[in-house]
Amino acid sequence: MGKVLAIGPYSDRDAAALRDDFDAVFLPGLDDLAGLSPEDRAGAVALAYLGHHPLDGAVMDQLPGLRVIANFGVGFDAIDVPAATVRGITVTNTPEVLNDDVADLAVALLIAENRRLNGAEGWLRAGRWAQGGDYPVARKMSGRRVGILGLGRIGREIADRLAAFKCELHYFSRSEKPTPGWTWHADPVALARAVDDLVVAVVGGPDTQGLVSAEVIAALGPDGIIVNIARGSVINEAALLDALEGGALRGAGLDVFRGEPHVDPRFLALPNVTLLPHVGSATAETRAAMGALQRQNLRAVLDGRPAVTPVN
Ligand code: NAP
Repeated sequence: MGKVLAIGPYSDRDAAALRDDFDAVFLPGLDDLAGLSPEDRAGAVALAYLGHHPLDGAVMDQLPGLRVIANFGVGFDAIDVPAATVRGITVTNTPEVLNDDVADLAVALLIAENRRLNGAEGWLRAGRWAQGGDYPVARKMSGRRVGILGLGRIGREIADRLAAFKCELHYFSRSEKPTPGWTWHADPVALARAVDDLVVAVVGGPDTQGLVSAEVIAALGPDGIIVNIARGSVINEAALLDALEGGALRGAGLDVFRGEPHVDPRFLALPNVTLLPHVGSATAETRAAMGALQRQNLRAVLDGRPAVTPVN
């Protein structure tokens, strides 16, 4: 069998499993492929990838024997899938196993922003409560009208949770879905007009770039909150910052950013945002399940069986 390369910051447990099961060779990043000998590059048949840096055809061409790229994560927008397909490379991801965590986080961000939890905690920590000041009242989250932009696996889990919070649910998808009575909108502006808050759960990549446009943000209006657990690329970040700074939007809860891990410093100066470092799936339980599914996909393709969760 050829070599399995593992690229990315794996946990000790996943690194040990990749080593034990596949005798994997570890590299910190895609740039380090250039440091391998031509023989080692030619001998690589599988790549276990954990990262968000673009993995394009030029990278794939460094590994001419590659049969599978097993992505650690459901979002594969960093991988040029058409380039993999024309090279006969199977691409796999890790769907479903992270739905609960990401949906939980989306709801947490919606509550945090409506109830101004960051500000309230800061108030206490700064001693302002003890000085006799009650924190200003916030806004109720239960019962709000919430729009889900992208009713996929995670979007549906978010909607199910918000239904339990008595929210009125609306969604945008490219086609209407069977739902328990949630309202479908054919475009994101119409969705934003119909709701109080917007939760972004579509795929990233070129097709959804800037889908949350200045027009969508304006349609949501000054009482609105945007939560994004999808990809930073989906939101026009400059328009979002302008709206948050100017009071045209009440708040935002963001787990993902354009150019992450570098975050536009304008966000850091805002009081009306909750900012998280892409931790949607970051629990021990879910990361273990993602690692296991990544390895099942590697094993299947290397054994000549169909991948468990292929994307091409
Ligand atoms: P999914 O089941 O494939 O759902 C994707 C949604 O995106 C669907 O509603 C789909 O709409 C929509 N979509 C796809 N292509 C589109 C296009 N060209 N234009 C408009 N809408 C489009 O994916 P998922 O498992 O729910 O994951 C969604 C995303 O969440 C992932 O791709 C990933 O980027 C992100 N994510 C983030 C974290 C985190 O840590 N924050 C963790 C996991 C996932 P249709 O219904 O019209 O097909």
